Amino acid sequence: MATSLQVGTAVAKPGSLQYGEWAAFEDAVGTREFLPVIIAQGREEGPCIWLTAGIHGPEHAGPSVLYHLLTPELADELRGTIVALPALCPPGLRTMAYVPYHVPENPNRLWPDGRESAPQDPDKPAPSAQERAYARLYREMEASADYLIDYHNAWTNSLSFVFKDRILYRTDGKSAEEVAATRAEAEALAGQLAAMIEAYGHTVVNEFPVEKYIDEKLHRSTSGAALLVGGIPAFTAELSTGHLPDAAVVQAAVAGTRNVLRWAGMLDGPREPIDQITVIESGYPVRRRQTPRVDRACVVLHTVETGDTVKAGDVVGLVRDVWGRPLGEGVIRAEEGGIVLGRAHGIYFNPGDPVLYMAVRDEDPMVGPYPEEFYKK
Ligand SMILES: [Zn+2]
Repeated sequence: MATSLQVGTAVAKPGSLQYGEWAAFEDAVGTREFLPVIIAQGREEGPCIWLTAGIHGPEHAGPSVLYHLLTPELADELRGTIVALPALCPPGLRTMAYVPYHVPENPNRLWPDGRESAPQDPDKPAPSAQERAYARLYREMEASADYLIDYHNAWTNSLSFVFKDRILYRTDGKSAEEVAATRAEAEALAGQLAAMIEAYGHTVVNEFPVEKYIDEKLHRSTSGAALLVGGIPAFTAELSTGHLPDAAVVQAAVAGTRNVLRWAGMLDGPREPIDQITVIESGYPVRRRQTPRVDRACVVLHTVETGDTVKAGDVVGLVRDVWGRPLGEGVIRAEEGGIVLGRAHGIYFNPGDPVLYMAVRDEDPMVGPYPEEFYKK
């Protein structure tokens, strides 16, 4: 716990909200990009949680959660400190672009991955200003955060849910006893993370299994880096529609966050019910998967909704040609059972496109070693 905490120009003051700017970078035409910082500190000591949002430009529900959550009354009741950054990628937010114009890559894949930084390969692009800024911000986050929540939006009208990442641990250059100790630490972290997510109270969906997770560079997301490199319990909250935040989802995320603060000993009072939204408890672990996929170019008229539970073989959409005539069997069926997290946007699909975002039964372990080649690359 850091009692005297400063992030950018924001300096914590017990019992108050403090505001400031964190200098991200200055570009060649002299534009200074800063990240807005809000620090809420209670009068009593307690843990420090970082709440971050706005790394993806069209996702405006997360910043809304922080604007509703952070009130003078909260600072008055709080034990410990909240460091909130509602706008992690201002260029994306100002144009509502997922990939910002100034750095044409997914900004939520630019956080440190814990590998030794090799000398710059002259044939490869150097890290962007954005990546360098996140590397600096990461060090500040790691120095003070005991917990982190990063707020996002999945798809239009999707369920509000949490992505729970798997915990990976290093085995390179370690003896068998050291590996056992590292594994025990990873399992303890997984236990803390599960309890934190349970406190938040929305639907829980496990992230991809290890290989796909690393392929997708999810270990370099905000919460992935905090969790895997920093060993800090951290999760991604996915808050349904982004460009037009749903008031019920925002309220449920504010309540869920306050429940996390209670779990962490930062706030008193009973757990608030999460009854504004649909929460699915399947009774077994589920992971995300894009399924089923169309095998031809077609129109799909969905026949299932967000939150529906489907069985393998159930019809999930009508398949039509562009004139509206049935194609083939005329329907598309679920390939496996699970929960519909959301429908793929639109009705026109190309071969191989998924038509649903599903949560399906997860058989993979939540704790495991990094792939052997990870630290060699
Ligand atoms: Zn996002």
